[in-house]
Amino acid sequence: MTDPVSPMHADHANLADLLAQARDMVLAFHEGIAERPAGYFQDISMPDGEPPEDGLGALAALDAFHARHLHRHAASAGPRYLGFVTGGSTPAALAADWLVAGLDQNTASPGDSAAVPLSEQAYLWLRSLFGLPETFDGAFTTGATGANFMCLLAAREWAGEGAGIDIARQGLSAGPEIAVYSACPHASFVKVARFSGIGSDAIRPVDRLGVSEAMDTAALEAALGAAPAAQRKIVCASAGTVTGNAFDDLEAVAAICRKYDAWLHVDGAFGLFAGAVPELAHLTAGVERADSITCDGHKWLNVPYDCGFYFTKRIDLIERAAGALPAYLDVDGGGFPHYLNRALEGSQRYRALPVWMTLMAYGAAGVRQIVRDNCGQAARLGRWIEASDRFELLTPVILNVVCFRARPPAELDADVFNGDLLDALNAAGEVFMTPGAYEGKGGIRAAFSNWMTREEDVVRIMAALDDSYDMTI
Ligand SMILES: *Cc1c(COP(=O)(O)O)cnc(C)c1O
Repeated sequence: MTDPVSPMHADHANLADLLAQARDMVLAFHEGIAERPAGYFQDISMPDGEPPEDGLGALAALDAFHARHLHRHAASAGPRYLGFVTGGSTPAALAADWLVAGLDQNTASPGDSAAVPLSEQAYLWLRSLFGLPETFDGAFTTGATGANFMCLLAAREWAGEGAGIDIARQGLSAGPEIAVYSACPHASFVKVARFSGIGSDAIRPVDRLGVSEAMDTAALEAALGAAPAAQRKIVCASAGTVTGNAFDDLEAVAAICRKYDAWLHVDGAFGLFAGAVPELAHLTAGVERADSITCDGHKWLNVPYDCGFYFTKRIDLIERAAGALPAYLDVDGGGFPHYLNRALEGSQRYRALPVWMTLMAYGAAGVRQIVRDNCGQAARLGRWIEASDRFELLTPVILNVVCFRARPPAELDADVFNGDLLDALNAAGEVFMTPGAYEGKGGIRAAFSNWMTREEDVVRIMAALDDSYDMTI
């Protein structure tokens, strides 16, 4: 008796056609990506109906997606999508990500595949790209939120260790008071403070330097000096804030942390990349003195979503807290890490492969080029805004984000005008930007983080801003 041919077996026998069709769709999307609306707003309703009881087969399902839905997606991987800090996907990373699905490896445990050794190699390449010493170890995560979470977990365990408590086992109530000091923590750090049990109320705001988002290190020193000696202190410093691109003075912060026995965490989700570029590396000077560092792959490295990673000098704390190897997972890893014990997830996507492929394909020089190009583009847009009567910078351009706003005619409310202008700008489709606020003033952020963006795009961005001003007035 032979097995009946299931639709999946039939599709698998026809995999070449299926993948060719998917490839054609991606090619069509990419070939038009620069002319596609950057954000898509026409019809973003949910398709209704139930899934069919008997499926259509993969070719027909792909057809249906193509006909009805493909065009309803944002060109967020394209050159003029400047929202959030979105990144893009280099050709090598895109191809590698297809392989990730094709190979479908779980990198949580080593020992039965080259996937973990290659992941480890990609990780170590990143560590050297950022000039970090071998005392740092870590793992890939789903993003910088996941990286912040693992780093705060390490800091939490360190806080317990100093008081002779294993917080992972005994809980926070058994432990010492923990306080976190930060001038401008990213929203995701506030979130993971909640997840970690430390609580977002434990975050003590540290004064900022003047009107910047950077930490006033004298204020940090005063705060740590005034805090009770028994309090365990964690400092969360920024290497690149999302709106003002502020970098805390990490040398000074690290010295203060050493003096007051505080854990230093640095959130460098995209700003850590400055450290890979000689003429920008002064911004992250001192980062190697941190106890833990957060970074993202799916932003400036331009690998597809999702990918983050972290570095810490105390990986033992994370492995102790996260290490819960049941017998069925306790395989001989041949000396390679059990990433299971270094991240939240028990099963992990082979997200290092696009990183590995990116560095193989373009090298450190290729990564530096993306950073340099994007910073040059941000600077150019910044100069244009400074010279314009219609727009003004809300803060000087430091790296890759331009935070600005329109100056409306005197009779109009500036915040309302800027909201309307941003809507008009995004609706026109030429570019996509997101709102920003700086020192209480509502504005607009343009974040350059895509390898595809060229000088001609900056010219188009300026024209789109002028057009949207005309439309709003
Ligand atoms: C984007 C970002 C995060 C959060 O990263 P995700 O990858 O979205 O989880 C954290 N910190 C900073 C500074 C960021 O820019």
